Amino acid sequence: MQDLVRELLDWFSFAGRDLPWRRPPRTPYRVLVSEMMLQQTRADVVAQRFQAFLDRFPDFAALAAAPLDDVLRAWEGLGYYRRAEALWRTAGIIAARGTLPRAREELLALPGIGPYSASALRSFAFSLPDPALDANLRRVALRLAGERLQPGTREADSAARLLLGALLAAGPPALLSDALMDLGATVCTVRRPQCSSCPLQARCAARISGEPEAFGRPPVRPARRHLQIVALRVESESGLLWRPRPRKGLLAGLWEPPHVLGPVRPDEDAVASVLREWGVAGARDTGERWPMAHAFTHQTWTGEVRRLVARAEPPFQPGRWLDAEALQAVALPSAFRAVLSKVW
Ligand code: SF4
Repeated sequence: MQDLVRELLDWFSFAGRDLPWRRPPRTPYRVLVSEMMLQQTRADVVAQRFQAFLDRFPDFAALAAAPLDDVLRAWEGLGYYRRAEALWRTAGIIAARGTLPRAREELLALPGIGPYSASALRSFAFSLPDPALDANLRRVALRLAGERLQPGTREADSAARLLLGALLAAGPPALLSDALMDLGATVCTVRRPQCSSCPLQARCAARISGEPEAFGRPPVRPARRHLQIVALRVESESGLLWRPRPRKGLLAGLWEPPHVLGPVRPDEDAVASVLREWGVAGARDTGERWPMAHAFTHQTWTGEVRRLVARAEPPFQPGRWLDAEALQAVALPSAFRAVLSKVW
């Protein structure tokens, strides 16, 4: 095991990625923020946003003291906003108790922290040998061991955890976890593992088998659902019409404009109905249209924005007319940014 550790660390010293959350000091707060951001968001996107978030909310106390709307706004573009709310709630708990716990069970009791995040926090914040099984670590482990089990199944995860637990216990766990993640992301890739450049090639059962890509294959993802949308940019002298979404579900707690979304192109009756639902009477359709599209992990939206002009009468609650300043102060999902694109 010591040889494996040495080879992996040697390789990591020249081939490892310089990612902002790996830079010192690697405090529990920085690790927690990065792990929450990295759940379901690509590392290159997180890399652009991580430091700005830390500048705004430098520690648990600052994050806990901020209004949730400010946190959601700082999270814009990272998607899956429930994570931001969970992070904010966790910050409140930790600011009150003083420190992030090390014990797995205590971590799992915090909002938004599941088995993977608990392991990641233990590995990276406290350098404990608790493998954080993401797709990269699972794949590398199953290939090294020559296990044909499907990644993510209970049996496969047990096998991966056994091997990686022993590996992390034989060296610095945080550094080794970083190295394994980078190896999986850049060398031991799903379709074309570059075994000839791999520091572990001499000890890898999958490579020795002659068909390394046959090991650690992820299950086929269900196809994304395609939905069609008509979003309404309803303007009045008081601003644009938006409202907060419910606290649960897709884009929870963010703001939305009137819109119709469905598996087929929305018809005029559906558009008129949504205006009635928002309490907008006599809106004039200017005829201006522009395209909008957004891809979530599990669904895509394509369609158009329509520009309408209405009187500045109070809409039904919780709808509000937001002027340019108010729009700056609320959290708007990227999915609806196209609604703003014509003026602000
Ligand atoms: Fe992956 Fe090939 Fe390295 Fe094995 S030798 S860990 S299959 S890249």
